[in-house]
Amino acid sequence: MKQGHREEFFGAFAFQGPRDTSITLKIKHMPLYLASLNSGSNGNCYYIGSETEAVLIDAGISCRETERRMDRLGLSVNTVKAIFITHEHTDHTRGVEVLSRKHNIPVYITAATHKSSRLYLEQHLLHSFSSGIPVQIGDLSIHPFPKWHDASEPHSFTVSVNGLTAGVFTDIGSICENVSLHFSQCQAAFLEANYDEDMLENGRYPVYLKRRISGMEGHLSNSQALDLFTSRRCPGMQMLILSHLSAENNRPQLVLEHFSRQAMGTKIIVASRYGETGVFCIS
Ligand SMILES: [Zn+2]
Ligand SMILES: [Zn+2]
Repeated sequence: MKQGHREEFFGAFAFQGPRDTSITLKIKHMPLYLASLNSGSNGNCYYIGSETEAVLIDAGISCRETERRMDRLGLSVNTVKAIFITHEHTDHTRGVEVLSRKHNIPVYITAATHKSSRLYLEQHLLHSFSSGIPVQIGDLSIHPFPKWHDASEPHSFTVSVNGLTAGVFTDIGSICENVSLHFSQCQAAFLEANYDEDMLENGRYPVYLKRRISGMEGHLSNSQALDLFTSRRCPGMQMLILSHLSAENNRPQLVLEHFSRQAMGTKIIVASRYGETGVFCIS
């Protein structure tokens, strides 16, 4: 993080020493910073990190645009220690090759997703991961889990540090127990609200595409996302960033109203397909 985005959080407790001496220990809590650099079928890239290190979940906009947007947010590409790829669709992979090569950033991608993506990645920057086995990147713990989507080996991720967890939950056809469980552990989440059911049904998409989007391996509707939020949100959930909105079958204002009514203290944001959000901090 560059100066201007720094915030310090301290918690203090009194430790009773063995010989009647009272020592006050200060425990520094490490906040998590998150931002969407772009969100939607035209490109997805989500930043999650601490003060000193970060990961990108997907890199679906060009390297140049990723750099430009991070720079505007006061985020340094040098803090990005890894890129994790959810699946091979180009709105999640477009910028990976150049970003990884130019900045020497390791890419975590399963073998099946790599094969389907046809990405050319430098061998020494190529890493795999397995469902359910966390990957440690500095202080950050990245937890991959499988989900339903029409890709070869689709995964989502949560990122944790010091008891704080943020997750990216996009490109999900139906909500399985993995998704529910990991969502319930998040203090902040990027959650797909792809389409309004009436707008999709009455819209101009061909029938096969409507069925694909609303099918088991498609995308989450506003009401599916709202069900997950209201039924499984953790009591201390600080922030919900609605993501991957369809340009054709949804409206940001509609999503904002839909969720704000049931926010119950959680800050509601809608990520844009035309630019970056701000940098948000949970602590
Ligand atoms: Zn997508
Ligand atoms: Zn997809």
